[in-house]
Amino acid sequence: MKISEIYKDGHPTLSFEVFPPKTSEVYDSVVKATNEVAALKPDFMSVTYGAAGSTRTYTTAIASNIEKSGVTALAHLTCVNASEESLKEQLESLSENGIHNILALRGDLPAGVESTSDWVFKHASELIPIIKKYGDFCVGCACYPEKHPESKDIKEDIEGIRKKVDAGCEFLTTQMFFDNALFYNYMYRLREAGITVPVTAGIMPVTRAKQMERIISLSQAFIPRRYVAILDRYGDKPEALKQAAIAYATDQIIDLLANGIEHIHIYTMNKADVAQKIQENLSDIIPSCKKS
Ligand code: FAD
Repeated sequence: MKISEIYKDGHPTLSFEVFPPKTSEVYDSVVKATNEVAALKPDFMSVTYGAAGSTRTYTTAIASNIEKSGVTALAHLTCVNASEESLKEQLESLSENGIHNILALRGDLPAGVESTSDWVFKHASELIPIIKKYGDFCVGCACYPEKHPESKDIKEDIEGIRKKVDAGCEFLTTQMFFDNALFYNYMYRLREAGITVPVTAGIMPVTRAKQMERIISLSQAFIPRRYVAILDRYGDKPEALKQAAIAYATDQIIDLLANGIEHIHIYTMNKADVAQKIQENLSDIIPSCKKS
Protein backbone atom coordinates (compact mmCIF):
# COMPACT_ATOMS: atom_id res chain seq x y z
CA MET A 1 0.00 0.00 0.00
CA LYS A 2 1.21 3.53 -0.66
CA ILE A 3 1.91 5.68 2.40
CA SER A 4 -0.04 8.53 0.78
CA GLU A 5 -3.10 6.22 0.99
CA ILE A 6 -2.41 5.31 4.63
CA TYR A 7 -2.17 9.02 5.50
CA LYS A 8 -5.42 9.81 3.64
CA ASP A 9 -7.28 7.51 6.04
CA GLY A 10 -7.49 10.38 8.53
CA HIS A 11 -6.38 8.61 11.71
CA PRO A 12 -3.14 9.08 13.66
CA THR A 13 -0.36 6.65 12.73
CA LEU A 14 2.68 5.13 14.43
CA SER A 15 5.44 3.77 12.19
CA PHE A 16 8.86 2.29 12.96
CA GLU A 17 12.33 2.62 11.42
CA VAL A 18 14.75 -0.30 11.30
CA PHE A 19 18.21 -0.67 9.79
CA PRO A 20 19.54 -3.53 7.60
CA PRO A 21 22.62 -5.64 8.46
CA LYS A 22 26.05 -4.15 7.79
CA THR A 23 27.64 -7.56 7.10
CA SER A 24 26.43 -11.02 6.11
CA GLU A 25 27.51 -12.40 9.53
CA VAL A 26 24.74 -10.47 11.29
CA TYR A 27 22.12 -10.95 8.55
CA ASP A 28 20.11 -13.60 10.40
CA SER A 29 20.08 -11.72 13.71
CA VAL A 30 18.94 -8.50 11.97
CA VAL A 31 16.20 -10.38 10.09
CA LYS A 32 15.03 -11.81 13.42
CA ALA A 33 15.02 -8.36 15.07
CA THR A 34 13.19 -6.67 12.18
CA ASN A 35 10.66 -9.53 12.06
CA GLU A 36 9.97 -8.93 15.76
CA VAL A 37 9.35 -5.24 15.05
CA ALA A 38 7.08 -6.15 12.09
CA ALA A 39 5.11 -8.54 14.33
CA LEU A 40 3.92 -5.44 16.23
CA LYS A 41 1.95 -4.48 13.06
CA PRO A 42 2.74 -0.75 12.95
CA ASP A 43 1.14 1.43 10.25
CA PHE A 44 4.33 0.99 8.19
CA MET A 45 8.07 0.38 8.62
CA SER A 46 11.03 2.16 7.02
CA VAL A 47 14.39 0.55 6.25
CA THR A 48 17.52 2.71 6.07
CA TYR A 49 20.06 2.61 3.21
CA GLY A 50 23.80 2.64 3.82
CA ALA A 51 25.42 5.68 2.30
CA ALA A 52 28.82 3.96 2.40
CA GLY A 53 27.49 1.04 0.36
CA SER A 54 27.85 -1.70 2.95
CA THR A 55 24.14 -2.35 3.53
CA ARG A 56 22.67 -1.35 0.16
CA THR A 57 21.77 -4.82 -1.08
CA TYR A 58 20.14 -5.66 2.22
CA THR A 59 17.66 -2.75 2.28
CA THR A 60 15.57 -4.39 -0.43
CA ALA A 61 15.75 -7.80 1.26
CA ILE A 62 14.61 -6.47 4.65
CA ALA A 63 11.90 -4.25 3.11
CA SER A 64 10.62 -7.21 1.07
CA ASN A 65 10.52 -9.34 4.21
CA ILE A 66 8.48 -6.66 5.97
CA GLU A 67 5.97 -6.56 3.07
CA LYS A 68 5.69 -10.36 3.23
CA SER A 69 4.77 -10.09 6.92
CA GLY A 70 1.81 -7.89 5.92
CA VAL A 71 3.29 -4.53 6.95
CA THR A 72 3.81 -1.73 4.38
CA ALA A 73 7.53 -1.02 3.83
CA LEU A 74 9.25 2.28 3.05
CA ALA A 75 12.72 1.75 1.55
CA HIS A 76 15.26 4.56 1.95
CA LEU A 77 17.37 5.37 -1.13
CA THR A 78 20.31 7.78 -1.41
CA CYS A 79 21.98 9.31 -4.47
CA VAL A 80 25.50 9.75 -3.02
CA ASN A 81 27.86 8.86 -5.86
CA ALA A 82 25.02 7.13 -7.76
CA SER A 83 24.61 6.91 -11.53
CA GLU A 84 21.24 6.71 -13.28
CA GLU A 85 22.07 3.11 -14.20
CA SER A 86 22.79 2.06 -10.59
CA LEU A 87 19.61 3.78 -9.38
CA LYS A 88 17.56 2.12 -12.15
CA GLU A 89 18.85 -1.27 -11.05
CA GLN A 90 17.99 -0.59 -7.40
CA LEU A 91 14.53 0.80 -8.28
CA GLU A 92 13.66 -2.15 -10.52
CA SER A 93 14.68 -4.53 -7.77
CA LEU A 94 12.50 -2.64 -5.23
CA SER A 95 9.56 -2.73 -7.63
CA GLU A 96 10.00 -6.46 -8.34
CA ASN A 97 10.01 -7.07 -4.58
CA GLY A 98 6.65 -5.35 -4.09
CA ILE A 99 7.97 -2.13 -2.50
CA HIS A 100 5.76 0.87 -3.33
CA ASN A 101 7.28 3.55 -1.07
CA ILE A 102 10.69 5.24 -1.14
CA LEU A 103 12.28 7.85 1.12
CA ALA A 104 14.43 9.85 -1.33
CA LEU A 105 17.63 11.11 0.30
CA ARG A 106 20.85 12.65 -0.80
CA GLY A 107 22.83 10.82 1.90
CA ASP A 108 25.60 12.18 4.10
CA LEU A 109 28.80 13.45 2.54
CA PRO A 110 31.42 10.68 2.89
CA ALA A 111 34.35 11.54 5.23
CA GLY A 112 36.73 13.99 3.58
CA VAL A 113 34.20 15.06 0.87
CA GLU A 114 33.13 18.67 1.18
CA SER A 115 31.09 19.21 -1.95
CA THR A 116 28.66 17.29 -4.11
CA SER A 117 29.90 18.97 -7.30
CA ASP A 118 31.29 15.71 -8.77
CA TRP A 119 28.04 13.81 -8.29
CA VAL A 120 25.45 13.27 -11.02
CA PHE A 121 22.64 13.82 -8.49
CA LYS A 122 23.52 16.52 -5.98
CA HIS A 123 20.28 16.67 -3.99
CA ALA A 124 17.33 14.53 -2.99
CA SER A 125 15.16 16.75 -5.22
CA GLU A 126 17.17 15.51 -8.24
CA LEU A 127 16.64 11.89 -7.23
CA ILE A 128 12.84 12.15 -7.18
CA PRO A 129 12.32 12.33 -11.00
CA ILE A 130 14.54 9.25 -11.40
CA ILE A 131 12.44 7.35 -8.85
CA LYS A 132 9.25 8.34 -10.66
CA LYS A 133 10.81 7.40 -14.04
CA TYR A 134 11.53 3.80 -13.02
CA GLY A 135 8.43 2.82 -11.07
CA ASP A 136 5.07 3.76 -9.60
CA PHE A 137 6.38 4.78 -6.18
CA CYS A 138 5.05 7.03 -3.45
CA VAL A 139 8.02 9.27 -2.55
CA GLY A 140 8.81 10.90 0.79
CA CYS A 141 11.82 13.01 1.86
CA ALA A 142 13.67 14.11 4.99
CA CYS A 143 13.25 17.45 6.74
CA TYR A 144 15.03 19.05 9.68
CA PRO A 145 13.18 20.97 12.43
CA GLU A 146 16.52 22.42 13.55
CA LYS A 147 17.58 22.95 9.88
CA HIS A 148 20.02 20.77 7.97
CA PRO A 149 23.58 21.44 9.20
CA GLU A 150 24.61 22.52 5.66
CA SER A 151 21.80 25.11 5.33
CA LYS A 152 22.84 28.70 6.03
CA ASP A 153 19.59 29.46 7.84
CA ILE A 154 16.04 28.15 8.20
CA LYS A 155 14.86 30.18 5.20
CA GLU A 156 17.40 28.53 2.89
CA ASP A 157 16.55 25.18 4.45
CA ILE A 158 12.84 25.56 3.71
CA GLU A 159 13.65 26.51 0.11
CA GLY A 160 15.42 23.11 -0.16
CA ILE A 161 12.25 21.43 1.14
CA ARG A 162 10.14 23.31 -1.38
CA LYS A 163 12.35 21.96 -4.21
CA LYS A 164 11.68 18.42 -2.98
CA VAL A 165 7.92 18.99 -2.81
CA ASP A 166 7.90 20.64 -6.26
CA ALA A 167 9.75 17.57 -7.60
CA GLY A 168 7.03 15.23 -6.30
CA CYS A 169 7.72 14.53 -2.61
CA GLU A 170 4.40 13.44 -1.07
CA PHE A 171 5.33 13.46 2.64
CA LEU A 172 8.18 14.50 4.90
CA THR A 173 9.79 12.68 7.82
CA THR A 174 11.69 14.77 10.33
CA GLN A 175 15.13 14.31 11.73
CA MET A 176 14.85 13.33 15.40
CA PHE A 177 14.17 16.15 17.84
CA PHE A 178 13.84 16.24 21.61
CA ASP A 179 12.09 19.57 22.10
CA ASN A 180 8.56 19.78 20.66
CA ALA A 181 8.62 23.59 20.72
CA LEU A 182 11.31 23.55 18.00
CA PHE A 183 9.13 21.24 15.91
CA TYR A 184 5.99 23.41 16.30
CA ASN A 185 7.98 26.46 15.25
CA TYR A 186 9.28 24.57 12.20
CA MET A 187 5.78 23.39 11.25
CA TYR A 188 4.62 26.98 11.38
CA ARG A 189 7.48 28.00 9.06
CA LEU A 190 6.70 25.17 6.62
CA ARG A 191 2.98 25.93 6.46
CA GLU A 192 3.69 29.66 6.17
CA ALA A 193 5.88 28.83 3.15
CA GLY A 194 2.89 27.02 1.58
CA ILE A 195 4.31 23.51 2.10
CA THR A 196 1.27 21.42 2.98
CA VAL A 197 2.35 17.78 2.54
CA PRO A 198 1.95 15.53 5.64
CA VAL A 199 4.87 15.78 8.07
CA THR A 200 5.82 12.74 10.14
CA ALA A 201 7.49 13.54 13.45
CA GLY A 202 10.64 11.42 14.00
CA ILE A 203 11.09 10.41 17.64
CA MET A 204 14.16 8.65 19.02
CA PRO A 205 14.05 6.88 22.38
CA VAL A 206 17.73 7.17 23.37
CA THR A 207 18.32 3.99 25.33
CA ARG A 208 22.12 4.20 25.53
CA ALA A 209 24.10 7.22 26.73
CA LYS A 210 26.69 6.71 23.93
CA GLN A 211 23.90 7.06 21.32
CA MET A 212 23.29 10.62 22.47
CA GLU A 213 26.92 11.65 21.82
CA ARG A 214 26.59 10.31 18.25
CA ILE A 215 23.24 12.04 17.73
CA ILE A 216 24.62 15.38 18.83
CA SER A 217 27.66 15.07 16.57
CA LEU A 218 25.63 13.94 13.51
CA SER A 219 22.43 15.96 13.73
CA GLN A 220 23.43 18.73 16.15
CA ALA A 221 20.04 18.25 17.84
CA PHE A 222 19.25 20.40 20.86
CA ILE A 223 19.03 18.32 24.05
CA PRO A 224 16.72 19.93 26.62
CA ARG A 225 17.89 20.24 30.23
CA ARG A 226 15.25 17.65 31.22
CA TYR A 227 16.88 15.04 28.96
CA VAL A 228 20.39 15.95 30.09
CA ALA A 229 19.27 15.27 33.69
CA ILE A 230 17.96 11.83 32.65
CA LEU A 231 21.27 10.98 30.96
CA ASP A 232 23.28 12.27 33.94
CA ARG A 233 21.28 10.23 36.41
CA TYR A 234 20.69 6.99 34.44
CA GLY A 235 23.47 7.00 31.80
CA ASP A 236 25.26 4.10 33.47
CA LYS A 237 22.10 2.16 34.40
CA PRO A 238 20.93 0.65 31.07
CA GLU A 239 17.55 -0.69 32.19
CA ALA A 240 16.65 2.53 34.05
CA LEU A 241 17.76 4.64 31.07
CA LYS A 242 15.63 2.53 28.72
CA GLN A 243 12.56 3.01 30.92
CA ALA A 244 13.18 6.76 31.19
CA ALA A 245 13.77 7.05 27.40
CA ILE A 246 10.47 5.27 26.65
CA ALA A 247 8.64 7.55 29.11
CA TYR A 248 10.23 10.67 27.58
CA ALA A 249 9.37 9.56 24.02
CA THR A 250 5.79 8.72 25.06
CA ASP A 251 5.42 12.12 26.70
CA GLN A 252 6.72 13.85 23.54
CA ILE A 253 4.34 11.82 21.33
CA ILE A 254 1.25 12.50 23.45
CA ASP A 255 2.01 16.21 23.41
CA LEU A 256 2.41 16.10 19.59
CA LEU A 257 -0.85 14.21 19.09
CA ALA A 258 -2.71 16.50 21.51
CA ASN A 259 -1.51 19.44 19.43
CA GLY A 260 -2.86 18.00 16.16
CA ILE A 261 0.21 16.21 14.76
CA GLU A 262 -1.09 12.98 13.20
CA HIS A 263 1.94 10.94 12.18
CA ILE A 264 4.73 9.66 14.44
CA HIS A 265 7.79 7.68 13.33
CA ILE A 266 9.94 5.91 15.92
CA TYR A 267 13.65 5.35 15.34
CA THR A 268 13.55 1.87 16.94
CA MET A 269 17.22 0.93 16.36
CA ASN A 270 15.80 -2.60 15.75
CA LYS A 271 14.63 -2.86 19.38
CA ALA A 272 11.22 -4.54 19.33
CA ASP A 273 10.85 -4.31 23.12
CA VAL A 274 11.18 -0.50 23.02
CA ALA A 275 8.74 -0.22 20.10
CA GLN A 276 6.28 -2.50 21.86
CA LYS A 277 6.35 -0.50 25.12
CA ILE A 278 5.65 2.71 23.23
CA GLN A 279 2.75 1.03 21.39
CA GLU A 280 1.34 -0.15 24.72
CA ASN A 281 1.56 3.38 26.11
CA LEU A 282 -0.51 4.65 23.14
CA SER A 283 -3.00 1.78 22.88
CA ASP A 284 -6.09 3.94 23.36
CA ILE A 285 -4.67 6.88 21.44
CA ILE A 286 -3.46 5.49 18.09
CA PRO A 287 -5.69 2.82 16.45
CA SER A 288 -2.81 0.61 15.19
CA CYS A 289 -1.37 0.43 18.73
CA LYS A 290 -4.45 -1.33 20.13
CA LYS A 291 -3.90 -5.08 20.32
CA SER A 292 -6.91 -7.32 20.88
P1 FAD B 1 19.08 17.37 0.47
O1 FAD B 1 17.59 17.40 0.42
O2 FAD B 1 19.81 17.25 -0.78
O3 FAD B 1 19.57 18.53 1.41
C1 FAD B 1 20.95 18.68 1.77
C2 FAD B 1 21.27 20.18 1.87
O4 FAD B 1 21.12 20.78 0.56
C3 FAD B 1 20.33 20.98 2.77
O5 FAD B 1 21.08 22.00 3.36
C4 FAD B 1 19.29 21.55 1.83
O6 FAD B 1 18.71 22.76 2.31
C5 FAD B 1 20.09 21.79 0.57
N1 FAD B 1 19.30 21.57 -0.66
C6 FAD B 1 18.29 20.66 -0.85
N2 FAD B 1 17.87 20.69 -2.13
C7 FAD B 1 18.61 21.63 -2.76
C8 FAD B 1 18.66 22.10 -4.09
N3 FAD B 1 17.85 21.59 -5.04
N4 FAD B 1 19.58 23.07 -4.40
C9 FAD B 1 20.41 23.56 -3.46
N5 FAD B 1 20.40 23.15 -2.17
C10 FAD B 1 19.52 22.19 -1.83
N6 FAD B 1 21.24 8.87 5.30
C11 FAD B 1 21.61 7.69 4.73
O7 FAD B 1 22.73 7.60 4.24
N7 FAD B 1 20.74 6.63 4.70
C12 FAD B 1 19.50 6.69 5.20
O8 FAD B 1 18.75 5.70 5.16
C13 FAD B 1 19.06 7.92 5.81
N8 FAD B 1 17.81 8.07 6.31
C14 FAD B 1 17.41 9.28 6.80
C15 FAD B 1 16.08 9.42 7.24
C16 FAD B 1 15.65 10.64 7.77
C17 FAD B 1 14.20 10.79 8.22
C18 FAD B 1 16.55 11.73 7.88
C19 FAD B 1 16.09 13.04 8.47
C20 FAD B 1 17.86 11.60 7.43
C21 FAD B 1 18.31 10.38 6.88
N9 FAD B 1 19.61 10.21 6.39
C22 FAD B 1 20.00 9.01 5.83
C23 FAD B 1 20.59 11.30 6.50
C24 FAD B 1 20.58 12.20 5.23
O9 FAD B 1 21.05 11.47 4.13
C25 FAD B 1 21.49 13.39 5.53
O10 FAD B 1 20.89 14.23 6.47
C26 FAD B 1 22.01 14.17 4.33
O11 FAD B 1 23.04 15.05 4.79
C27 FAD B 1 20.97 15.06 3.65
O12 FAD B 1 20.03 14.33 2.99
P2 FAD B 1 18.75 15.07 2.33
O13 FAD B 1 18.03 14.04 1.57
O14 FAD B 1 18.01 15.85 3.34
O15 FAD B 1 19.52 16.05 1.34
